[in-house]
Amino acid sequence: MPVLVMKFGGTSVANLDRIRRAAKRVGVEVAKGYDVIVIVSAMSGKTNELVGWVGETSPLYDAREYDAVVSSGENVTAGLMALTLQEMDVPARSWQGWQVPVKTTSAHSAARIEEIPTDNITAKFGEGMRVAVVAGFQGVSPEGRITTLGRGGSDTTAVAFAAAFDAERCDIYTDVDGVYTTDPRIASKARKLDKIAFEEMLELASLGAKVLQTRSVELAMRYNVKLRVLSSFEEQSDAAGTLVCDEEEIMESNVVSGIAYSRDEAKMTLISVADRPGIAAAIFGPLSEAGVNVDMIIQNIAEEGRTDMTFSCPTDQVKRAEKAMADAKARGDINYHDLVADTDVAKVSAVGIGMRSQSGVAAKMFKTLSDEGVNIKVIATSEIKISVLIDRKYMELAVQALHDAFELDKA
Ligand code: ASP
Ligand code: MG
Repeated sequence: MPVLVMKFGGTSVANLDRIRRAAKRVGVEVAKGYDVIVIVSAMSGKTNELVGWVGETSPLYDAREYDAVVSSGENVTAGLMALTLQEMDVPARSWQGWQVPVKTTSAHSAARIEEIPTDNITAKFGEGMRVAVVAGFQGVSPEGRITTLGRGGSDTTAVAFAAAFDAERCDIYTDVDGVYTTDPRIASKARKLDKIAFEEMLELASLGAKVLQTRSVELAMRYNVKLRVLSSFEEQSDAAGTLVCDEEEIMESNVVSGIAYSRDEAKMTLISVADRPGIAAAIFGPLSEAGVNVDMIIQNIAEEGRTDMTFSCPTDQVKRAEKAMADAKARGDINYHDLVADTDVAKVSAVGIGMRSQSGVAAKMFKTLSDEGVNIKVIATSEIKISVLIDRKYMELAVQALHDAFELDKA
């Protein structure tokens, strides 16, 4: 029988009522003839509570025990979902990550899935089980310890199962009814997209759209898993939600598909560093080793052998970046007069695969911001994305203006 993967996020399993409602959705797909693999998150708020308990117990906790505690929320919902399905006379069984087993690396709290053997679950399907309920977010390391995949990781569990079982589709049930052209809380004209290409979704996810964990989209793209994002709070038709798919399946694509933003960006400028071969490596090597996620980089005009180097990173990494630079200076690897951190900036990005074949998108973006009196501090582009760093107080205005300028409210 064809396999369908259905993933329910924290709000969709927040209490017994919601679990019953989700189970009914599963029942509908079983009745259509699918063998279903259900991936569940912990009840909403549960993982945060567990993370809090670990921190209170042991500030410099052992990462293996962090995973032992933090993975447990999913165990509860997996068992409850299986029981609920059994109450509906749907043959169901729950599986914790280690039972499948979901084999991962041993990078605790940020493990990556290496392999999901399908034989155990497939054998059960063969014996008449119709639903395997799997605890998301967790796996087992080569050492036999429980691991977790990083916050939001059950999306990645779902996609990995869909790839491993060659599922027809991977449906991600959440509290929004799909992927929007931008955040509807900022731009009321934001429109739900029927389809979006993997690459666009990847950019939007990594730029701050929070519907899907970035890694799940990478995985879906690599294994060409059809992903659908839809709400568990509404009656759903087969065409509901947003399909994240290969760009070939999208006939008419907009030049720009979405506007993303990220509030917590910082702009760091190293004043007067030597302009010599190897200087970029001497700066960004230590930053990367310190775990600073550098996004945009600009090297300014050089004068008399000195230059200013600007980069952006998340605000909560500013301290780490400052330390990495001070250490490099102390070692004599780099020299600079000052490191200036501007933490009142935000990043706004326009994303669309249509940019590949259409020129003028950047010009239009800059003109729109200029008409609104918004000053651009840093610009970065890729083949399908243009990002700008601006003062945070203009972020909402910029998102709305760009959404209008690219007519994203129109299909
Ligand atoms: N419960 C985990 C978290 O909150 C995993 C997930 O929901 O995807 O991060
Ligand atoms: Mg989530």
